[in-house]
Amino acid sequence: MDFSLSPEAERLRSELLDFMQARVYPAEAVFAEQLAQGGDPHGTPPVLDELKAEARSRGLWNLFLPHKTEWTDGLSNLDYAPLAELTGRVSFAAEVLNCSAPDTGNMEILTMFGTSEQRRDWLQPLLHGEIRSAFAMTEPAVASSDATNIECSIVRDGGEYVINGRKWWISGSADPRCRILIVMGKTDASAAPHAQQSMILVPIDTPGVSVVRNLPVFGYVDREGHCEIVFDDVRVPDSNLLGEEGGGFAIAQARLGPGRIHHCMRTIGAAERALELMCARGESRVTFGAPVAERGQVQEWIANARIAIDQARLYTLYTAWKMDEYGNRAAASEIAGIKVAVPQMALTVIDRAIQVHGGGGLCGDFPLAAMFAHTRLLQLADGPDEVHRRTVARRELKRQRATRENAAVAG
Ligand SMILES: Cc1cc2nc3c(=O)[nH]c(=O)nc-3n(C[C@H](O)[C@H](O)[C@H](O)COP(=O)(O)OP(=O)(O)OC[C@H]3O[C@@H](n4cnc5c(N)ncnc54)[C@H](O)[C@@H]3O)c2cc1C
Repeated sequence: MDFSLSPEAERLRSELLDFMQARVYPAEAVFAEQLAQGGDPHGTPPVLDELKAEARSRGLWNLFLPHKTEWTDGLSNLDYAPLAELTGRVSFAAEVLNCSAPDTGNMEILTMFGTSEQRRDWLQPLLHGEIRSAFAMTEPAVASSDATNIECSIVRDGGEYVINGRKWWISGSADPRCRILIVMGKTDASAAPHAQQSMILVPIDTPGVSVVRNLPVFGYVDREGHCEIVFDDVRVPDSNLLGEEGGGFAIAQARLGPGRIHHCMRTIGAAERALELMCARGESRVTFGAPVAERGQVQEWIANARIAIDQARLYTLYTAWKMDEYGNRAAASEIAGIKVAVPQMALTVIDRAIQVHGGGGLCGDFPLAAMFAHTRLLQLADGPDEVHRRTVARRELKRQRATRENAAVAG
């Protein structure tokens, strides 16, 4: 097992480190100020577009793509891990590099399953960072951890499909630049459970699409938004179908593997930042004659954070290596495992960092409170922890069963 980076990834990492120091960290306060001044929580602060242009000119663009493009030769998961980790340190950094969810997963779907027209109309502007997109699967009326429950209907009518349903928690759909929704629904409710679903492209301005409301997360109104959307007799041409009728479940599975590991890589970056803030604050605050960082209890938190972050990073790198070497399917248990382990680790680290900041840790003067809310949502988004544990347990039981059976045959 070799976790060393390719020369290209080494070069990009050094360029990204420089860009973060010189341009991104100094822009954090500017970003918040411009967003507040603009009066629209979903608006685009001008500094974001300035940073995007600079990232692109530095070659720091679309780094998540695993195949050769005009921007990179295609980075492996292992190569991408330290880059994504760096972007996880600042809330908007992934978007600056055109590497943010849900666009990355949607671009991957369009690359893998899109026709040449679909790629021209939607993939190209997404790759150039001109528009944004959303992925609409979850529904308020059914338990959506089990995607076979989805009720949204996609019915063929001549040369069109008609879509009816209600979705919620659709990330990215409040961004004024969001132009396209990838909607999952059922084309044939009588087919086998995993062949009922299809995916279809729905421009957000199609008549019958209504963005009803944005859902805050612990009171935080995320800039990209997580909206409830109603589809009322929405008609799109049949050429908007992605892949084949009944192929939606398989497309969803293809999308989620890389998306999940990217979340984990960025979350490790957030945990590193929280640990840095914890140490700096602990050394600068003095109580009862000594800096807080000299207290045994706080040092235990610092040590445990260091240990837990390093463990989580190695588990994530191992998963990335396994995906690169054996494919996403072979690494399904590890992908599910890191999706549980990494947010759990980061929540503990951020929580301790908040505690060391005292009351300040709970307010917006430090990034920790927002970081906590964002990390907590990852225990639900892209599947709740319990469903990922189910994947790990079922694979483990299967593996153990096979080992016992092989031993019995050999014996
Ligand atoms: C901030 C945020 C952003 C999101 N973004 C998107 C998005 O862009 N697009 C999209 O389509 N969806 C999105 N989601 C939705 C997310 O994927 C779902 O919330 C998640 O899959 C769970 O579905 P549900 O909410 O219907 O919970 P339910 O399916 O009702 O499950 C409720 C709870 O039951 C428990 N549970 C479920 N199954 C099991 C099991 N097998 N064993 C034990 N316990 C179990 C879990 O604790 C689970 O949390 C987002 C969610 C959040 C919070």
